[in-house]
Amino acid sequence: MTLILALDFGGTKLAAATINAGSKQWLGYERRLSPPNANADTDLEIMRSVINSLLKGAKPDAIGVSFGGPVDATTGKVRLSHHVLGWENVPLRDLLEEEFGVPAGVDNDANVAALGEHRFGAGQGYDSLFYITVSTGVGGGWILNGQPWRGSEGMAGEIGHMVVDPNGPVCLCGKRGCVERLASGPYMAQDVREVLRNEPPRRQGRQGGDILRELVGDNLELITGQVVSEAAAGGDNLAQEILYRASWALGVGIGNVANLINPQRFVLGGGVMKAGEDFWEVLRRVARETALPEVNFEIVSAALGDDAPLWGAVALAEDILC
Ligand SMILES: [Zn+2]
Repeated sequence: MTLILALDFGGTKLAAATINAGSKQWLGYERRLSPPNANADTDLEIMRSVINSLLKGAKPDAIGVSFGGPVDATTGKVRLSHHVLGWENVPLRDLLEEEFGVPAGVDNDANVAALGEHRFGAGQGYDSLFYITVSTGVGGGWILNGQPWRGSEGMAGEIGHMVVDPNGPVCLCGKRGCVERLASGPYMAQDVREVLRNEPPRRQGRQGGDILRELVGDNLELITGQVVSEAAAGGDNLAQEILYRASWALGVGIGNVANLINPQRFVLGGGVMKAGEDFWEVLRRVARETALPEVNFEIVSAALGDDAPLWGAVALAEDILC
């Protein structure tokens, strides 16, 4: 039996699992929240305790790691984390290889999740796919000719910062109207909050934003991407407008990517993708309208949910061993 240890440093969440190579059943599986004041050291400490409780003294044969931030996959060195301090230039692969005395592979979460969906999920049997995760950020990962395609410095697939509206609002990257700026949960929440703060005094009768306010008991700070989805499903015009813009932005991004590389499948996961049928319908229609008529593709839901990075980490480890 070949024992694989899969790790997921997710930014706000940490997860680890063990599995026998070739199996589709976890032997052990554990998730923990990363504390709000976490840094690289505390995350590593928590991960160590999770690993120890999973391995119970057993030694893995290989370790696969998904990391929520840019990674140089050739050296296994983390560039930084956008969510957790202290990860700048941490040689994560070397640390793990020294500590456990076995080979390890490290890559960023979107690439790893793409690999997971390709090997174990919605991309099985497809040679070319583009995986997109839409949650607190928007990330993308390529599988081309059955292999991850990372670009020359591991930065391929950054659909989150593809500009779809050059006159749109400013993104954290400094550009305007990126897909992530329009479609990620926190930015959608920020935009509805801003409208609600600046709106004129209440008039009689229902109007856009009322359902949003009700859902958070008038505490606008509690609005999240998920709350926006719920309000939209309940008929809130403002929430529907913001969600429409998000699905439009994703559709334009996907249509352009289809024109450029012509993959067979787009596999979409992440919390925002649970926004409902209307969201998917708009996204598919806009993607179709954006791509050339001769460019064919399917847009499907990811199959592995939050576990896609862990499954991809398994695939990374399996690839090291063969
Ligand atoms: Zn951006």
